[in-house]
Amino acid sequence: MAGRVDLDGNPIKPITICMIGAGGFIGSHLCEKLMSETPHTVLAVDVYSDKIKHLLEPASLPWNGRIQFHRINIKNDSRLEGLIKMADLTVNLAAICTPADYNTRPLDTIYSNFIDALPVVKYCSENGKRLIHFSTCEVYGKTVGAFLPQDSPLRQDPAYYVLSEDASPCIFGPIEKQRWSYACAKQLIERLIYAEGAENGLEFTIVRPFNWIGPRMDFIPGIDGPSEGVPRVLACFSNNLLRHEPLKLVDGGHSQRTFIYIKDAIEAVLLMIENPARANGHIFNVGNPNNEVTVRQLAEMMTQVYSKVSGGSPLETPTIDVSSKEFYGEGYDDSDKRIPDMTIINRQLGWNPKTSLWDLLESTLTYQHRTYAEAVKQAMSKTTAN
Ligand code: NAD
Ligand code: UDP
Repeated sequence: MAGRVDLDGNPIKPITICMIGAGGFIGSHLCEKLMSETPHTVLAVDVYSDKIKHLLEPASLPWNGRIQFHRINIKNDSRLEGLIKMADLTVNLAAICTPADYNTRPLDTIYSNFIDALPVVKYCSENGKRLIHFSTCEVYGKTVGAFLPQDSPLRQDPAYYVLSEDASPCIFGPIEKQRWSYACAKQLIERLIYAEGAENGLEFTIVRPFNWIGPRMDFIPGIDGPSEGVPRVLACFSNNLLRHEPLKLVDGGHSQRTFIYIKDAIEAVLLMIENPARANGHIFNVGNPNNEVTVRQLAEMMTQVYSKVSGGSPLETPTIDVSSKEFYGEGYDDSDKRIPDMTIINRQLGWNPKTSLWDLLESTLTYQHRTYAEAVKQAMSKTTAN
């Protein structure tokens, strides 16, 4: 850690970071990185700590004292302002961010992503503290290309689908498609943060993650989360593979996504944390444009990779089709394609993702198999016995 310098060659001073949502998927990886590679201190705020308990105990770990856990629900806890004041920087990750909730719990989704973030922005602005706020690639909504005729050659033109922070419009579906409650709440908080920057001088950075995936993402239903819960696609497909059942393709699995390995993405966040002069005032796409697949292709690749890492035979019927209404309920809608423009993050931070989709699935599914295979087997044999 000695002699660490920023991108402009200046020594990096240790800082205190108030990390809200530190107990989640991204938070757990960011805490791990900050503890193992930097001298910074983390005030970790969340309602859960399971995913970071390896960092909090035992007290003899080398970073003992540099991470403190505060079990706080930011909806209603007056300790939040004190923690933001104690820190040099606040990183806000807290959110409801699983698509199955957007159309079924739209009020909770809007409150979590907009209303609950308001005090965080306000305390940062009023106390002159820097804020890194996690938004989403979903603020882009659908691509312009999605509205062209199916056979239009313009659909192949990147100008109609590449998503760029300072040029692309945000295109959501109608209000009755409640899927967009999340994207809309995230967009409004982005606008509010941007306006705090413009009118009151708030030093901010906004991150738009493009499908970050890896170990510790979400939960396996019935094992470390509710049996009826619907997590994001990595955990849904992992659950199917662990149970040796076909992977469910929503509306044919035609939607396209670019997946990035969490460890690559965390490198980008660390650069933002340690290079405020280059990151402040910017909105950054963080994704891997080289890892694009349809959801169907993702299912096929995960089936192959899982067979390799588990040593089991591949499924005879790897996928089944399911309608979005059946899978998510009324009001679901989808983003068609998500390719991040990388110009701004390249220019400001010189960052590029490294890990291929195959490699990131191999390490992630190795983790899923080691962590869950035995528990799933036991749960399944109990169900059969009953
Ligand atoms: P996550 O659900 O694993 O983590 C969110 C954490 O916030 C959870 O631990 C949760 O307990 C905590 N939290 C929620 N409400 C809280 C409250 N009221 N008080 C205290 N803690 C609260 O999700 P994640 O994947 O780590 O995502 C983090 C952020 O990144 C979110 O804002 C999400 O919208 C954004 N994001 C992530 C992705 C991705 O690819 N993982 C994509 C787009 C956007
Ligand atoms: N999806 C699917 N089967 C599943 C879970 C998700 O086909 O079991 C699809 C979903 O409809 C979407 C994509 O996978 O098109 C990615 O879903 P995810 O929940 O990861 O979130 P999103 O990228 O839509 O924000």
